[in-house]
Amino acid sequence: MPQPSITIIGAGISGLTAGRVLLKRGIRATIYDKHPPPPSHRNAYGITLYRWAYQHLLPLLEVDEFTFHDKLSTDISRPIHSKTTATQEQASVRAQRARLEYLLREDLDIRWNHKLENIKPTPTGISLIFATPDTTHTTTDILIAADGVHSTVRTALLPNSIPHILPFAVINGKHQVPSSTFGSVFRPAFENAGSSIIETRPSGASNIHLQIALNEIHDDGTASLSWTYSRPAYTDKTDPLHRADRSPDAAREIPEAFFEELGQLRLSGNVEPAFADVFATEKARQDRLLHWLMRSVRVPPASELRRWGEQGILMVGDAVHAQPILGGEAANAGIVDGVEVGEWVGESREELADFYNEERLKRWENGVEGSEKKLDEMHGMWRSTL
Ligand SMILES: Cc1cc2nc3c(=O)[nH]c(=O)nc-3n(C[C@H](O)[C@H](O)[C@H](O)COP(=O)(O)OP(=O)(O)OC[C@H]3O[C@@H](n4cnc5c(N)ncnc54)[C@H](O)[C@@H]3O)c2cc1C
Repeated sequence: MPQPSITIIGAGISGLTAGRVLLKRGIRATIYDKHPPPPSHRNAYGITLYRWAYQHLLPLLEVDEFTFHDKLSTDISRPIHSKTTATQEQASVRAQRARLEYLLREDLDIRWNHKLENIKPTPTGISLIFATPDTTHTTTDILIAADGVHSTVRTALLPNSIPHILPFAVINGKHQVPSSTFGSVFRPAFENAGSSIIETRPSGASNIHLQIALNEIHDDGTASLSWTYSRPAYTDKTDPLHRADRSPDAAREIPEAFFEELGQLRLSGNVEPAFADVFATEKARQDRLLHWLMRSVRVPPASELRRWGEQGILMVGDAVHAQPILGGEAANAGIVDGVEVGEWVGESREELADFYNEERLKRWENGVEGSEKKLDEMHGMWRSTL
C-alpha cells in the first residue's frame, strides 16, 4: 500500500519537531510556512525549555544533553545546568529559539513563502490553497496543523475557537548594552540569580512585574537583552496600555502614557541596579518597543477535534492550546506535541482521531489554565480555585 501523503502547516517549534520525528522514521512530510526563509536574527530570543520537553529532542538531533546546552544556551555561564541530574525533570535551559529552529530544520522539506489561505476536506483528500504569486493548490491525505496562535486551519474549521486576550498591559523592549555596563551591572545580577532571567515587583507598585532576559552576549562583550513591563489592565477606566483590539501593525505604537508610568517607578534601594538601568524612561525610549498581547487559546471541544481528525486533520501546539507568553510554557508543550503527533502519524494508526484522547486533552487544558494562573500570580493576583 502506498504511504499516505503528509503535509505540515507551520515551520515553527511543533511543526518542525513533528517533521523531524517523521524523518527519523524515514517518512518525508512537506512543510509549508508563510514566512520567507529565516535570516539568522529572526526569533533570536531566549526561551526557557524544561528537561521534560527538551529531552525528546536529544535523540532527534543526535546530540547529548551537554552538547544541546552548549549549542543553544544563552545562559550566563554555560553550561549553567551542568549540576542537574537525570531525575530533575524541571531542570531548564534558556535556549535561543532561532538556533533551535535552525537545528530542527536540517534536511526537512520546507516550502517557504507559502501562506495557507484555504483548506477544504474532500472525499479524495484535503485540498489546500496557498497564497503564492500563481496560487499553489495541492492535496494531502494527512494534515498536521501547527500554524500557531492565529492558525488558519483552526479559524477555517473551528470558527468558534478564538484566541482569548487576557487583561494585561504588556510592553516589551529590546535593549543593547555596552560591554562595560554588562560586566559591571548585568552580569552580576544574572549570576546572583543563577539564571539569565531576572524579575522583580517594585515596592509600592506590587502588581507591576519587571523582567529582564539575556538574549545573547556578543563576541565583543556587548549584550542583547529583552525586557518586559507588565501589569493588570485597568478595569475601572480606559487603559491606554491595554489595546486588545489593536491591529498587528499597531504593535509598534507605544502610547506616551507608558513613559509616564515608567517615570513614576521608584527603582532604587533593594532592587538590582540592572532594573534602574533598563527601565529608565529616556533609555527605554531608545529601545525597540512592542505592545504585546497576552493570548490564550482554550482547547476546543473533543467532539469537534475528533470530527476533523476522522478526516485526516490533526491540530497541535499554539493552534489549539496557546498559552500567554508571560507565564506560559507553550514552546515546551509544542515540542511534546510535535513528538507525539509525529509518532502517532508515523505509526500509521487507522484511527487518527484517537490522537485526541482524554489524557492528552486534559494535559492541554491544564497547561492553558496553569499559565493563566501563573500570569495572575506574577502580578500579585491570586485566583480562586473554587
Ligand atoms: C517573545 C516570545 C518569548 C517566548 N518565550 C517562551 C518561553 O520562554 N517558554 C515557552 O515555553 N514559550 C515561550 N514562547 C511561546 C512559544 O514560542 C510558542 O508557544 C511556540 O513557538 C508555539 O509553537 P507552535 O509550533 O505551535 O507555533 P509557532 O512556533 O508560532 O509556529 C507557527 C508557524 O506557522 C506559520 N504559519 C502561521 N500561519 C500560517 C499560514 N496561514 N500558512 C503557513 N504558515 C503559517 C508561522 O509562520 C510559524 O512559523 C515565547 C513566545 C514569544 C513570541
